[in-house]
Amino acid sequence: MAPTAEVRAGDRARLEAALNRPAAQQPDWPDRERAAAVAAGLRALPPIVTPDETDRLRGRLAAVARGEAFLLQGGDCAETFADNTPTHVRDNVALLHRLAALVADAAGRPVVRVARAAGQYAKPRSASADATGLPVYRGDIVNSRTPTVRARTPDPDRMRRARIHAAATMGVVRASGAATFVSHEALLLEYEAAGLRAYGSAVHSGLAHFLWIGERTRQFDGAHVAFAALLANPIGLKIGPGTTPEEAVEYAQRLDPHREPGRLTLISRMGHDRVRDVLPPIVEKVTAAGHPVIWQCDPMHGNTRVLPSGHKSRHLRDVTAEVDGFFAVHRALGTHPGGIHLEFTEDNVTECVGGTCGITEDDVPERYRTACDPRLNPTQSLDLARRVARLFRP
Ligand code: PEP
Ligand code: MN
Repeated sequence: MAPTAEVRAGDRARLEAALNRPAAQQPDWPDRERAAAVAAGLRALPPIVTPDETDRLRGRLAAVARGEAFLLQGGDCAETFADNTPTHVRDNVALLHRLAALVADAAGRPVVRVARAAGQYAKPRSASADATGLPVYRGDIVNSRTPTVRARTPDPDRMRRARIHAAATMGVVRASGAATFVSHEALLLEYEAAGLRAYGSAVHSGLAHFLWIGERTRQFDGAHVAFAALLANPIGLKIGPGTTPEEAVEYAQRLDPHREPGRLTLISRMGHDRVRDVLPPIVEKVTAAGHPVIWQCDPMHGNTRVLPSGHKSRHLRDVTAEVDGFFAVHRALGTHPGGIHLEFTEDNVTECVGGTCGITEDDVPERYRTACDPRLNPTQSLDLARRVARLFRP
């Protein structure tokens, strides 16, 4: 299907209304006109993914929601321009497939593979300045990690570079052969809005098959939720331990108004010590409201801690405990533990503690290479996938 270059008038009005809502976590561009000009240039580019592929993912996710398949999503916390090498992209995708094959075998059902790749360049941050008082790094699509005022100043031309890197990364993902869909957090709204295309009566993001809204940008009256509601793509929403069951139902009503299996993935990231208490009433209430969502566990973001060395890290023990808790909750309620969402890399890093590779807290600084959050290395990822496999065996 050929896209119309712009979304149609009615959709454009809805899009503008969405974008006029308050938007958290947006960069303060020093030159707004330049940012608008870059975004206008992006609108003229061909999409990175096709609507046929996105519709195929919708079909596969419907099977996950029905309990017939499992969803494995993962990759870097933050992609960087420097690390978007063919080798890194190919090997990350290969690791995703390896983990998926392990789980598929044990679960006796297909595993839908979704990479955090080809657009995962924007990061939400808890403060606008870092410890030295410099503007915080917001991902390669906004500024540079280099700790100087100049490098940290948001630069709209980075949106154009991100789009070029995303297209090139998608090329490498496609060349890897096996079907892998791509996803990222829909955070930087100027970039995301410039990626919309109309196909018939549907508005698709041409930037990824699957987009999610993060824990820090899920305000009900905010721009991100309204933006996601416009899209035909499957949508994820991160929910942390502060989410009430009533709020979860409200999200489902807004983002899955037609009660379509797999349209909405609720990605719980509660922390290993909270998941068994906080998740059950949410699952019960959303299920009772008739929304066939996918329940996916992100065992990474609720289990981050700062080590005495100052490094942000995660213990595989905690990550595993959250996955265990997530499965236990769904087993007790008779619902489907539909998937997991991980941060991993093919690189043999020492960012997370534990696992059969025996990384200790003291080892963490040795190969700490992430641009943002600590990732599981291949050994730790396989440890976790084996655990998931075991949870599926009777
Ligand atoms: C992330 O997925 O990298 C992230 C920032 O997660 P969350 O929104 O759950 O904090
Ligand atoms: Mn992260």
